[in-house]
Amino acid sequence: MIRINENYTKLKASYLFSDIAKRVSAHVAAHPDQPVIRLGIGDVTEPLPAACVAALHVATDEMARRETFKGYGPEQGYAFLREAVAQHDYAARGCAIEADEIFISDGSKCDCGNLQEIFATDIRLAIPDPVYPVYVDTNVMAGRTGGNVDGRYSGVTYLDSTPANGYVPALPAGAADLIYLCFPNNPTGAVATREQLTAWVEYARRHRAVILFDSAYEAYIRDPRIPHSIYEIPGAREVAIEFRSFSKTAGFTGTRCAYTVVPKPVQAWDAAGRPHAVHALWNRRHTTKFNGVAYPIQRAAAAIYTGEGKRQTGALIDFYLANARLIREAMTGLGFTCVGGDNAPYIWVNTGRDSWEFFDLLLQRAQVVCTPGAGFGKCGEGHVRISAFNSRANVETALTRIAAALR
Ligand code: PLP
Repeated sequence: MIRINENYTKLKASYLFSDIAKRVSAHVAAHPDQPVIRLGIGDVTEPLPAACVAALHVATDEMARRETFKGYGPEQGYAFLREAVAQHDYAARGCAIEADEIFISDGSKCDCGNLQEIFATDIRLAIPDPVYPVYVDTNVMAGRTGGNVDGRYSGVTYLDSTPANGYVPALPAGAADLIYLCFPNNPTGAVATREQLTAWVEYARRHRAVILFDSAYEAYIRDPRIPHSIYEIPGAREVAIEFRSFSKTAGFTGTRCAYTVVPKPVQAWDAAGRPHAVHALWNRRHTTKFNGVAYPIQRAAAAIYTGEGKRQTGALIDFYLANARLIREAMTGLGFTCVGGDNAPYIWVNTGRDSWEFFDLLLQRAQVVCTPGAGFGKCGEGHVRISAFNSRANVETALTRIAAALR
């Protein structure tokens, strides 16, 4: 009799987006005359930058000719893309990252979900709350937690992000071995300062821990004082792994391309106390279980680093950030305290009431869909996330409706 991985039975079913979808469909069925505007799900709405589309066409034509056709590529990604990333995303910011420390993949979701598997099952975890759910759920699947009690898994140190700490969690009192951080944050849109990130890097060095730094929204940082990469912090090369994605940088959510940086000095220890290079372990895992991203997609990703590509992705992000500014100003004008939206595409609204109640209110009275904060963790209660990923016309209409509904 085949048995299941019992850890899967501990997973708390995530009803968030299906619950939202159910409530929205019920509303639409009851009020077919009221078009709903969705500012809930974090998917982009604008098409790929022209430079990426042009590169896709050229690469597709290469695949059509025997002389230029490509079969399996290097699992870690083509040198042209790894070198472009090293040069434009790191060297240009003074970070010493080598091209062979960059692993190209088909998404940060997979990478930040998979990376935990190279570490022992009894390590101590520190995970933010509210949070992008992949970090927690993949550790539950791997057996690193106990059961879920009152919305929290036992055995996890939750890093509370609250109004009191400006949604940037404090260092835990005890020791943790694997620390997840995400800045600019999903769902709060908060960013971490150089001083805050320095404290985390020092903590990780003190405890011989590893930081998994998710910077999927790095391209949205506009404040010149905010670090774009954890590697801008001295000493991070020994203790941090960074995830980046082309999804929100260049509209690749449906095209799929991302990368993970694993510097060679990052170490983890075996039971006998011998150090191992995490880079070698990840390389083993990646090459064993993954066969690389499609050549045309990597060419499209590399196109964002050309002059045209940089201009076009910059304009794309400026467009979403202008939406975000409108949303934040409107919600602040209605008396809510908000974070995010200035260096991130999400606005985290402190509603001062139950997050599902506020969600229902916006849906019923304004026909606008947001995301209830409680769906991202206990500390998300009392908040909603509003996303800037939409057309300008939809954002403006949504805000006019929200103002009318809440005044
Ligand atoms: N990390 C965070 C914080 C995200 O919000 C997302 C997507 O929403 C991802 C990772 C996943 O990105 P990708 O599309 O590269 O899988």
